[in-house]
Amino acid sequence: MGTAASFLSPIPGKLEGTGPKLTAERLARRAKQRRQIQSMIGSCFVLDAGVLLTYAYAGTTSVLIATTYALCGLSLVALYVLASELGINERFRDHYLVAPQSAANMVNLLAFTYFAPEVGVLFLCNLFVVFGFGALRTSARQTAVIWTVMVAGLAALFLWSDRPIGMPTGNIYERLATMLVFALTIGRCMFLGIFSSSMQQSLYQSGLKLKEAYKRIEELAELDELTGAFNRRSIMRMLDEEIARCARSGTPCSIALIDLDHFKRINDAFGHPTGDEVLRTFSISMFANIRSIDRFGRYGGEEFLLVLPELSQESATRALDRLRAIIADLDWSAFSPGLNATFSAGVATLRANESPDSFLARADSALYAAKARGRNRVAAA
Ligand code: GH3
Ligand code: MG
Ligand code: MG
Repeated sequence: MGTAASFLSPIPGKLEGTGPKLTAERLARRAKQRRQIQSMIGSCFVLDAGVLLTYAYAGTTSVLIATTYALCGLSLVALYVLASELGINERFRDHYLVAPQSAANMVNLLAFTYFAPEVGVLFLCNLFVVFGFGALRTSARQTAVIWTVMVAGLAALFLWSDRPIGMPTGNIYERLATMLVFALTIGRCMFLGIFSSSMQQSLYQSGLKLKEAYKRIEELAELDELTGAFNRRSIMRMLDEEIARCARSGTPCSIALIDLDHFKRINDAFGHPTGDEVLRTFSISMFANIRSIDRFGRYGGEEFLLVLPELSQESATRALDRLRAIIADLDWSAFSPGLNATFSAGVATLRANESPDSFLARADSALYAAKARGRNRVAAA
């Protein structure tokens, strides 16, 4: 199925094949895929030669037709494999060269129908397979061109020549061979169906993977790398959205500006990497203790903004004091003996028609007041 999925890659020659950056490993894999497909085509010629030999045994056609058909088919396969091994295929957008292959097989089949019309049913049935296979990978334009040329060939065969094209059923061997022609043709058509459904499946899977990757990229673009909190741009956007929502619904909305106390001293005493660890642990602890509707983002440095929808000033202050106690009670000395971390916070609740700037400025003054009162405390605006 790996071969099927790769043969049926969604946009022939557009996603790959034209770029110069194919690795040796990828080239080898593509050459292997081409070999696998050619061995499949080669075995089809051998099977058909077996059916033609059955016709020959029945006296319908000559052994020469069976052997010539096998030789022509296998020569086409050999030529293709040679080109593939020499890397010639890689110069084309569609490295499978489906259009020229379909054309060559079409000419071969029409010529055999002309020269051995007594077993024409086998060659004409194979036209379905060749076109079914080709249409899976050729562009609409290529398909239209090949179809037109094929119709011209069929017209020449049916209208300008008077060859009686046969579907032999005169004796048991002929009936067996003709039955085999249909059985093989239907089998090959079913194989094409399996090919195309495997393509759909692999496209569907790629689509899912792509969606997941986009989602992850979007998430990463919104998050602060160090702390995993929303970055400043995101938290500011969320604040704007929350202000607009509160204005519409008339529900209260509070925010808290949170600043770690004496953080410079932590860096100076325990080193910048430990400072980073403190920021990360602080952030994780905050996430673990806020509601799912709260929004927590890094406002800058060691300063954070917490958006608390549907909380009055009193409830928000209580919530912040609970968070403050949780952070202050963490066993920070596990990072480094003597290490301790606390924060101060300024809480503000949205006033009617207040702008985000004024809202933040009031929270900032409250934070300043909390610091002035000795830190590790929460002040309300
Ligand atoms: P205050 O209690 O008044 O807030 O004092 P402070 O020392 O926390 O405040 P100040 O603004 O003087 O210092 C903040 C420090 O935070 C300085 C800066 O180096 C540090 N800082 C900012 N961002 C990071 C970071 O990402 N990692 C680390 N380790 N330190 C940071
Ligand atoms: Mg600070
Ligand atoms: Mg600060």
